[in-house]
Amino acid sequence: MDDKAPAPDSGKRKHAWIEVDRCSPPKRKAAERVNDFREIYDSYDEETVMEQARRCINCPEALCMEGCPLENRIPEWMMLTAEGRFSEAAVISQSTSNMPEICSRICPQDRLCEGACVVAGKADAVAIGAVERFINEWAFAHGEVVARPAPSNGMKVAVVGGGPGGLACADQLARRGYAVTVLESSTVAGGLLMNGIPAFKLEKEVVERRINVIKQRGVEFRTGVNVGVDVKLYELEEEFDAIFLAFGAQMSKELGVPGSDLEGVIPALPYLIQKNTNTPVDLPPVEVAGKKVIVVGGGDTAMDCLRTSLRSGASEVRCVYRRDQSNMPGSRKEYDNSIEEGAKFTFLGAPVEVLGDGKGHVKALRCVSMELGPADASGRRRPQPVPGSEHDLPADLILVAFGFDAFPFPEGSGFEKIKTSRWGTVEVDDNLMTNVPGIFCGGDLRRGPDLVVRAVRDGRDAAAAIHAYLVSRRLMDMSVEQPENVGMEVV
Ligand SMILES: Cc1cc2nc3c(=O)[nH]c(=O)nc-3n(C[C@H](O)[C@H](O)[C@H](O)COP(=O)(O)OP(=O)(O)OC[C@H]3O[C@@H](n4cnc5c(N)ncnc54)[C@H](O)[C@@H]3O)c2cc1C
Repeated sequence: MDDKAPAPDSGKRKHAWIEVDRCSPPKRKAAERVNDFREIYDSYDEETVMEQARRCINCPEALCMEGCPLENRIPEWMMLTAEGRFSEAAVISQSTSNMPEICSRICPQDRLCEGACVVAGKADAVAIGAVERFINEWAFAHGEVVARPAPSNGMKVAVVGGGPGGLACADQLARRGYAVTVLESSTVAGGLLMNGIPAFKLEKEVVERRINVIKQRGVEFRTGVNVGVDVKLYELEEEFDAIFLAFGAQMSKELGVPGSDLEGVIPALPYLIQKNTNTPVDLPPVEVAGKKVIVVGGGDTAMDCLRTSLRSGASEVRCVYRRDQSNMPGSRKEYDNSIEEGAKFTFLGAPVEVLGDGKGHVKALRCVSMELGPADASGRRRPQPVPGSEHDLPADLILVAFGFDAFPFPEGSGFEKIKTSRWGTVEVDDNLMTNVPGIFCGGDLRRGPDLVVRAVRDGRDAAAAIHAYLVSRRLMDMSVEQPENVGMEVV
């Protein structure tokens, strides 16, 4: 692409969405892609991405930015992309996100930026995610994603947990000259980006590439360190000036019905890790080929289990979800992809019992039909069982994708002094600081299971808050040592 190509007439561009339909980036055919775990989407070509970016009408008060937890400067990079100025577009995109090439792949855009797009009221929303992916991949391909260590400010911060929240915080702090150490219990960093989200949504090389950029910025990674067990909290407090806790919420919720202990009832996350990665996991090898698989739940994890099972050779794969399709928490795009790949759905169904084959193994899932009552606190209509509607669905494997809680802190870990909610999430103030000064928290550990983009937001916000905290503490220390500094204004 010629960077000096004349900018298209802006008046024409204002109405491009009328003439140009939204088009998705190339997607591999379902029959082909269920044979492997590679990503299913490719990037646009340059001509198409410019055409798609022209569909953005550059609203002065862009609702897409409000819909994005990172407040990405979408209209700006859309305008630059429409003009073929991909390099500048990528720089703007990276100014608000520490991993735009990742968020563009896995954000549920239909519920965030694209759901808020003004064009969506009249035609299909602008393809924000696909354009974001293109410009950032373009920047990587042209060697324009570079990082180098900032001059040291002499202060040290520990980040516990190497998921998206921890990575974003570490990246932001390293840019400010902090010596940052990420302590990660797994053998690899990346959190659920590596050990959870399957490669057909996000190839692991993409995550490794981002972690390498963060390493180039000078962040140190200590993997295989279980904080609270291998190293106690007080030891971190001694070694570091501040601590950011971002160790997620990965304790599987139980199925909680009679028969749940039968062989063949499996929690979703270890199953996904076993099938999608080489990371060691505490689950005997699960044979899926030729089996009937039921996945219970309706979120992203459930969709990932369905599609992983199809790729692992299951003869039938069915999702059982207690609400209807419009109330599913998962992304619409991933639901459509699951259907295309052959998954079946039973909506308004809830498990009441797992039936065994008399030899200790699962034979079927007994469900009850549900109807939707009034809305609950989350705003979604509460499902209620229909009396006498029990029915059995045959199953060889039942994958439980009901969601997650934070693991309780191990005894003697030193974490007992950190205040938690009754759901086990860590409580923080407006600056993401816990009840212990200097210890901050973000991501799923404070929110409960949520989204990558919100974990990144927390990481960025926490980095800013840690910086403000440490700078003001340093100024206070200086004023104690040098009384003439008392009253110095902190900016
Ligand atoms: C299967 C699945 C699919 C998902 N799909 C999507 C999706 O498509 N889009 C989306 O936006 N979100 C998705 N999510 C949600 C998203 O992955 C999470 O919201 C996000 O990863 C949370 O980031 P985090 O940094 O808070 O925690 P995590 O990603 O959970 O990372 C926490 C890290 O801390 C480490 N750790 C835990 N305990 C310790 C300890 N004691 N010491 C040291 N390290 C520790 C863990 O090993 C892990 O690496 C999905 C979640 C799952 C489970």
